[in-house]
Amino acid sequence: MKAEIMGIGTELLMGELTDTNSSWIASRLPALGIELRWVSIIGDDLARLTEAFKRGMERSDIIFTTGGLGPTQDDLTREAIAAAFGETPVIQQEVVDDLERYFAARGGPMPQHNIKQANLIPSARFVPNPNGTAPGWWAERDGKIIICLPGPPAENHSMWEDQVEPQLAELIEDEVTITRNIKTFGMSEGAVDEIVSEFFGVENPYLGIYSKADGIHLRVIARAKDSQAAQVMIVPVEEAIHERLGEYIWGYDDDTPAQAAGQSLLENGLTVAVIEMCTGGALTNSITDIPDSLTYFKGGTVAYDGTALSAGGVPAEVMEKHGVVSQETANAMAESVRQRFNADLGVAVTGVPGPGEFEGKPLGLAYITVTDGKKTREMEMRLPPRRVTIKRRVPNQALIELRRLVEETR
Ligand code: AMP
Ligand code: MG
Repeated sequence: MKAEIMGIGTELLMGELTDTNSSWIASRLPALGIELRWVSIIGDDLARLTEAFKRGMERSDIIFTTGGLGPTQDDLTREAIAAAFGETPVIQQEVVDDLERYFAARGGPMPQHNIKQANLIPSARFVPNPNGTAPGWWAERDGKIIICLPGPPAENHSMWEDQVEPQLAELIEDEVTITRNIKTFGMSEGAVDEIVSEFFGVENPYLGIYSKADGIHLRVIARAKDSQAAQVMIVPVEEAIHERLGEYIWGYDDDTPAQAAGQSLLENGLTVAVIEMCTGGALTNSITDIPDSLTYFKGGTVAYDGTALSAGGVPAEVMEKHGVVSQETANAMAESVRQRFNADLGVAVTGVPGPGEFEGKPLGLAYITVTDGKKTREMEMRLPPRRVTIKRRVPNQALIELRRLVEETR
């Protein structure tokens, strides 16, 4: 099945908004056996949108769109499909009632503009949107399908998972693609590449290697007639990767360092507190992105100099002797925050965030310590001298070390 995706909205063309919806949908298609051929961005213009739908109907079996389903006059996705199909939209009273209930529950009347969200053409049906006012559209004509979802990712992701994907899976029976993403940290891309080199260059299962902020990822992609057959092809490659890189693997598929560390803490009934110098709260921010973090996260301290660290209980002698940016200070920070926050584990990061060197130490140098009071993991990092890189990589590494310590002592 040939597919295309259209990101709709003038703000996307202006560079004000990045089209993350299209890449998110693209990442979902291989597993369904849908072959993505084109991705385009189209502004809020009726003529150009209509033309895009007409062309899409000629070259693709299925078109996915996001955006342009709002109540405002510039949201024209529905109107363009109606024009491309030559059909007239009719207001559906039951959807108007739903919208009125939605607004009443929020304490106000429905703005008149929202009525257009209840419009439907004969060739389309609604895809309900439990998290917003814009229902999606599923339109079919001449054996072609157009699926329209609203722009906000929080709305279209759940609509996709709960409604679109299950319906697509029923439709498509030809071939599936299954991917397995194996995430490592601590080895260079070149070293990982060498260790699994014999699997490269094979078309099916295909092995790809990617360098990311949270390490080197290996992605195994297998195509087969059904998902079970594809899994069978993945197993030997995954087993070999495990055998050779086991200790460097920290997660799979959609895992993030914060989520993986949190999972380990939850499973072991442990709590953690953090203290960060050089990451400005980025570590705390990652940890608290995870909904369950309330269960295992005690709190975090952001200290940007020695005085603040002293106030946070880090012994001044250690900092005077070794410097604020040192493994010794990281160790003292981790133990002090662990005790002060009454947590099972303490995590500390300290480093040189720039603009220049600090204590005669180079920009990009960082130290991490994770401790449970008995066992400790220490780590020195030498990162590229860029603030954003430091703020992204140091927290990732600290979270991976945290997970490793928990898993080691399990
Ligand atoms: P719209 O449905 O066009 O009114 O879009 C509503 C909101 O959804 C926009 O203001 C953006 O915040 C978000 N949005 C729309 N299109 C995209 C896209 N392609 N990628 C990510 N977010 C989007
Ligand atoms: Mg829009």
